[in-house]
Order: sequence, then C-alpha cells, then structure tokens
Amino acid sequence: MRQFGDGEDIKGHKFERIVGLVAPFSLLGYEGKSSFNPLVKGSGGTSCDYCGTYIINVYWIQDANGKKFKVGSECVRHLGDTKLVTIVEGEKKKQERIKREIKKQAKREAQNKEFEDALIILANYPHPHPYFASQKKTLADYYRFTRNAPKAIAEAKEKRAQEGTINRITKT
Ligand SMILES: [Zn+2]
Repeated sequence: MRQFGDGEDIKGHKFERIVGLVAPFSLLGYEGKSSFNPLVKGSGGTSCDYCGTYIINVYWIQDANGKKFKVGSECVRHLGDTKLVTIVEGEKKKQERIKREIKKQAKREAQNKEFEDALIILANYPHPHPYFASQKKTLADYYRFTRNAPKAIAEAKEKRAQEGTINRITKT
C-alpha cells in the first residue's frame, strides 16, 4: 500500500493539498466542465487537487479510507493504481465518443437546415426526368426523393450562382 506524504513533488508542483491518500482508489465519476465563458454563469474549470493545474475534465476519486478528491486524467497516473488508470482511460474514451456523437449530430442538423434551404431554390427548377417535369414535378421533388443532401446543396448553390450571372447580364 502506497502512502502519499506531505510536500511530495509532482511535475514541479508541491503536492500538499491532499495528504495521506491510501490505495486502492475508485472512480466516483466524471465531470465535464465547460471552458470559461464570462457570459455563462458557473462556466470554467476547476483545479486538480493533486497538482493544482487547471482542469476541465474532472475525475472524482475516492481512496481506500473514503476520502474524496478530484484530479485530471494525467494525475490519475501519479496515484500509482493501474486498475484505476484503466477505468479512467475507459471513461475518457466513453466521454470522447459522446463528444464526437454530439458534434456529428450538430453537423447533421446543420446539413438538414441547408438541405431545406436548398429545396426552396430547387423548387423553381423542373424535375430532371421529362415525364415528371411534365407532371409539374420540380428538382426539389427529385432531391426529396433521392435524399442526396450534399448534391442538392451543391446544385442549389450552382443554380444561385447561375441566377446571379443571368441577373448581371440582363442588367447591362
Ligand atoms: Zn493534476
């Protein structure tokens, strides 16, 4: 069992905030803090109880005696508990996966919005197939059917650019 003494030097920081921690440790939970924003109350990170460094990814740990403290993912390694490191690494991967998923979702939503805007422009153009065009179907109907959002967005941009050119020509 490893004991942590007062004044132990970690990465140039004096380890004195938490003393007498006893292994093994357990992960109580992860707390994701947001970056500091003066407009958002309660935003910003906190400090690692182990080294005092500013952290936004906070891991709440409990030692064998039930003492609770918070550290960054780097300082988890300094506790010398390999089992805990594995657990924290797993949690870190899970959090990264969640963050990626949120980003992907935001991107999907942005694209959906762009797709809807593109359909408004494409509704002014006839369907690419003569039969559907004769049925008064539009290019928007075509893309609503294919659901090819990137292509619809690109085509709408192209149409808008062409319209711009035509407008300029007719003006002069
Ligand atoms: Zn630390």
